[in-house]
Amino acid sequence: DLRPWHSALRTEFPIITNHPELAFPDSAATSQKPQAVLDAAHTYLTTSNANAGRGAYPWANRTTDLVERTRTRVKEFLGDPTPERSGVHFVGGTTEGLRVVALDWLASWLTDGDEIIVPYADHQANLSPWLEARRLLARQGIGVRVRPLPYQAASGDYDPAALAAMTGPRTRFVAATHVHHVYGGDMNVHRLREAVGPEVPICLDAAQSIGHLPVSVADLDVDFVVFSGHKAMALPGTGAVWAGGARGPAFRPGGWSGTPNTVGIAGLHAALDWLDAAGTDRIERWTLALTARLTDGLRRLSPYGILGCQLSLPASSGVQRRLGIVTFRHRDSPSDDLGFILYSHGFMVRADSLCQVGAEESDDKRGSVRVSLHVYNTPEEIERLLSVLASLT
Ligand code: PMP
Repeated sequence: DLRPWHSALRTEFPIITNHPELAFPDSAATSQKPQAVLDAAHTYLTTSNANAGRGAYPWANRTTDLVERTRTRVKEFLGDPTPERSGVHFVGGTTEGLRVVALDWLASWLTDGDEIIVPYADHQANLSPWLEARRLLARQGIGVRVRPLPYQAASGDYDPAALAAMTGPRTRFVAATHVHHVYGGDMNVHRLREAVGPEVPICLDAAQSIGHLPVSVADLDVDFVVFSGHKAMALPGTGAVWAGGARGPAFRPGGWSGTPNTVGIAGLHAALDWLDAAGTDRIERWTLALTARLTDGLRRLSPYGILGCQLSLPASSGVQRRLGIVTFRHRDSPSDDLGFILYSHGFMVRADSLCQVGAEESDDKRGSVRVSLHVYNTPEEIERLLSVLASLT
């Protein structure tokens, strides 16, 4: 029974307890922050604020030490088996992190005739940097072919047959998403690795998985993990790139000499501590149960259609799980009307076209409503949401 664990954790979010009349099912956009993260930011700014990597007085030394300790903390959080070989670069979020991998690493790794596999129906942040790297290389006379990795709605995963067909001797890089930001599908990263073989670097957009389930780079066998700290309990404008360093050239992003977001890094360290103490395995179980209840309830309401596949089948069915994100439409009502009505009942949800590229659903003028859950959401909120939705049929 996770209820006692959950009740205690929920009280650690001041913005949640200060607003009992509101519910925040929009964590795919950004998460709320526990007191420990607010405290870490306050403590840092009131005891040690200075720049990192310069100055030889105690505040500067403590700040430099904080940045280095947080790099180590990110590696530890990701279950990095060879931290002496890997690197961590702090960024403002996943969008910036993916650009850093594309422009500071990938663009120097590819040669003429290489092929890269990138997703076309995922978040736009995980498409434009790869296309930009290709454009950059093309101007230098280096031709790179981009193969679009298709998402398969029926299985909630990348299409394995298409993936096998596009993988060949010239495949030199794969970009993929861990948990889809619209469909919530927990992609089968192992299958991706099996398809491309042991040599090809894989970069994982983990924006929707870090903080939601245990993520182990050893288990997933990926080369880059890019995530947004701000979606994982840390402060706005934070994120990180983890680079394993086992495949391809060393990852040496530009801008090491700039001033890092030190207070954000202090918050990120506290957020990872908080998540580990809460238990990402328990957070996963909690949100999976809420997601299952929401999808089951929605399926019984005939005017609503859920986007993506119906993911409450067991893992043995070969269908991927839906983790914390449920996106749907009403047969008649546009999504902004639904969003407005839901807010009048206290629910803050995303209601629009959801930063998606390439998916057929994105052409639909009605848009869609996305409910995205985290550990502070409750079964009571899900029941209340379903009864509001039922009243609109
Ligand atoms: N990738 C995915 C899968 C996302 O869900 C998001 C955020 N919606 C991003 C990238 C971009 O993250 P950020 O806004 O932190 O740059």
